Amino acid sequence: MRTEKPSDPRPAEGLRPVINVSGTMTSLGASIVVPEAVEAMAAFLPHFVEIDDLQRRASGVIARLCGSEAGYVTASASAGMTLAIAGCMTGSDLAAIERLPATDGLRNEVVVQIGHLCHYGAPVEQAIRLAGAKVVPVGTSTQSESYQLAGAITDRTAAGLYVVSHHVVGYGQIPFEEFVAECRRRGVPVIVDAASEYDLRGFVARGADIAVYSAHKFMGGPTAGIVAGRKDLVRAAFLQNRGIGRGMKVGKEGVVGAIAALRAWERRDHAAVRAREEACLSYWQERLRDLPGVAAVPEPDPTGNPLRRLRVSLDPAAARQEAWELAAALAAGDPPVIVRDHEVEHGYFYLDPCNLHPGEEVAVAERVLEECARARARNEPGRGSLAERRREGIARLLAWPD
Ligand SMILES: *Cc1c(COP(=O)(O)O)cnc(C)c1O
Repeated sequence: MRTEKPSDPRPAEGLRPVINVSGTMTSLGASIVVPEAVEAMAAFLPHFVEIDDLQRRASGVIARLCGSEAGYVTASASAGMTLAIAGCMTGSDLAAIERLPATDGLRNEVVVQIGHLCHYGAPVEQAIRLAGAKVVPVGTSTQSESYQLAGAITDRTAAGLYVVSHHVVGYGQIPFEEFVAECRRRGVPVIVDAASEYDLRGFVARGADIAVYSAHKFMGGPTAGIVAGRKDLVRAAFLQNRGIGRGMKVGKEGVVGAIAALRAWERRDHAAVRAREEACLSYWQERLRDLPGVAAVPEPDPTGNPLRRLRVSLDPAAARQEAWELAAALAAGDPPVIVRDHEVEHGYFYLDPCNLHPGEEVAVAERVLEECARARARNEPGRGSLAERRREGIARLLAWPD
């Protein structure tokens, strides 16, 4: 649980003290790591441990929390997907494991719905190919059916990948149960990318052979991935540490921190967290109530996580700015406020309360009010465009480290 705000090391390193109302973003340092994980990592860092034994420990904790036969900790959920796919191709054949990404003689195809081939910071599709596997796309962007999945499965199919995310197409996709049933019928294991999902048990309980989670998202662990599932497949994924997994190594601190975060998650007062998040939403709604051209409405999480966010929609004529302009002004301001703006071209962004330190909600409201007042006073809409802003973002990336 978050207690008091820790001292801030950022200014001494020349880093902006960003306030995160965008959610759990790798680009912002993921989440507020829970004290239990911080303490466990600090305690273990000076000591040697037998890593396979530590991962055995992790397996027990993951199995208990996820209701799976086994589990292990990877560098990230993305690594977990790649390694789980690798395991589905090689099994426990150490020679095949060392030959990857060459897959001669192995089943090497992964079926995945086209609407699931999203970008979570890198393409899903690349996490598959990285193992040496071949992506077999199913359906079309906005419509996939079980018969198309059935038609895509062959003797070469190593696994089916199912992605659960606000990034995937939100309609017209094969329901999870149907995807599992079709793969099961053909003896194909199903791997679920549940990186951002709160429900640690549901996917395994409903038939996933492997479910992959991020330790550094909702549960507030260090950067790591959690692979939970069938013992033979988890073992096969774990054994990739002698192969392609070496380049995605998680250290003892990552494993220990993930275990501590899982245990803390089990004990967390989830109702109290929900209440605090809801209090932030009510507070923001109240503060933004009379802003001209601004409508603020709480919205449930699109994948069913027990979390709501405030959708802030702008009527550009009345607000005298576009939603993206407000988002950009907030990000550029002091303190920088980073909003959830992945759909900003539709004229709205979200305020996500899940990663706030106590009191930061006040600064967020103040900054929104300030920028809205400034835009109305300026009374000159339409400087630049969202497309231009995106191009600038890429240009800035390409100029790194300058
Ligand atoms: C965050 C995310 C990932 C990547 O997880 P990491 O642990 O950061 O590698 C993959 N898939 C989805 C759906 C995500 O939300």
